[in-house]
Amino acid sequence: MTRIVQKYGGTSVATPGKLRLVARRVRESLRNDVEAVVVVSAMGDTTDELIALAHQVTSDPPSREMDMLLSAGETISAPLLAMALEAAGTAAVSLTGVQAGIRTSRAHRTARIVDIVPQRVLDELAAGRVVVVAGFQGVTDEMEVTTLGRGGSDTSAVALAVALGADRCEILSDVAGVHTADPRLVPDARVIPEIAYDEMLEFAAAGAVVVQPRAVEIAEAYSMAIEVRSTFDEGTGTVICRHPRMEERQKVRGIAHQNDVAKVTLLRVPDRPGVAASIFDPFGQQGINVDIIVQNLAHDGTTDVSFTIAESDLRRARMMLGAVARDVGAQGYMATADIAKVSVVGTGLRGTPGIFAKVFRTLAGAGINIEMISTGEIHLTCIIERERVGDAVRALHTAFELEKI
Ligand code: ADP
Ligand code: ASP
Ligand code: MG
Repeated sequence: MTRIVQKYGGTSVATPGKLRLVARRVRESLRNDVEAVVVVSAMGDTTDELIALAHQVTSDPPSREMDMLLSAGETISAPLLAMALEAAGTAAVSLTGVQAGIRTSRAHRTARIVDIVPQRVLDELAAGRVVVVAGFQGVTDEMEVTTLGRGGSDTSAVALAVALGADRCEILSDVAGVHTADPRLVPDARVIPEIAYDEMLEFAAAGAVVVQPRAVEIAEAYSMAIEVRSTFDEGTGTVICRHPRMEERQKVRGIAHQNDVAKVTLLRVPDRPGVAASIFDPFGQQGINVDIIVQNLAHDGTTDVSFTIAESDLRRARMMLGAVARDVGAQGYMATADIAKVSVVGTGLRGTPGIFAKVFRTLAGAGINIEMISTGEIHLTCIIERERVGDAVRALHTAFELEKI
């Protein structure tokens, strides 16, 4: 008997008709002695709509209540899929995160799975039922409901696959696999047949949202292969694994982008020890992640310190920036959200001279100004004007000939 975990994303379960299609697809996978656990996301844009709804009630909704609210999206889609399966003649049962034994940390909205007690899931499988689990949600030791961050159903699926000793984990979405760039921006982006965990982790963290980075981390830690493919089309898609075939390894794997970015600059900060700590401590205490940091030294003993945060944290950041600027003796601050990140990802990046220069030359050739740069082992990220992000991704995709893989 082969045990698989399949995860269907929001677009795949957006309407009653699509839920019936997913039910048919699940039934097809049950042929050949397979037992299946199916993890679902909320239908369509439900999560976005619930967030917007909360903000119509209050400008600062408490995280605990947000988790109660947002988890409802998946609590709705799971029983609907179970009903569709039953109606088609397949025994099925839906479970919430709590019932599936998904235990998490206490960090509301960004909780981490700490353990899964899968007994109920195993019992249902043994009884011959397809188990439909509500993704994205879990529970703390205090029985508080938590959610796992945007895209968290991917992580529910991979963690369940590990806990259940599944043979594989499939992520089914509205795209045919992991592409060399977001196919919505680059029509000739190609499906990458195989990609290593480390590259996929960087790619996902840089904005290739087709799999949540945390899901890739867990898969790597437990050597669980992930297959990413389309819900609606046949096709082998992408396998995320430890050792892709050698010839598949390219110097540049893909181009990622992210629009959820904002830039903050503290102006003319006195240049003395301890200043960076005084700036960034308050952000850490508020749980605001600071990403790229650039410091420009002036000649008069002051410096401008710029850094990026998620645009979704900008409102909270603005509430503290006045006080932070005062405390460090800065002349003032600026905050803007009209920027974006574009990243080139690939394991061959560091060892290959000239790649960075080629990125800069390509962006310059397209008349795109680079505001900030950050590099890592296998990525190069540039902060640019948001309006030009599509042009930047397409220019880099062409420059590295990714349409030819
Ligand atoms: P789901 O609802 O199935 O979880 P998501 O919206 O979270 O789907 O992820 C799928 C989307 O990811 C695609 O529609 C695509 O626009 C976007 N995406 C961004 N970068 C990539 C990439 N490199 N390859 C494939 N999809 C990507
Ligand atoms: N519904 C959640 C979200 O939109 C989780 C998910 O889809 O994976 O982020
Ligand atoms: Mg997703």
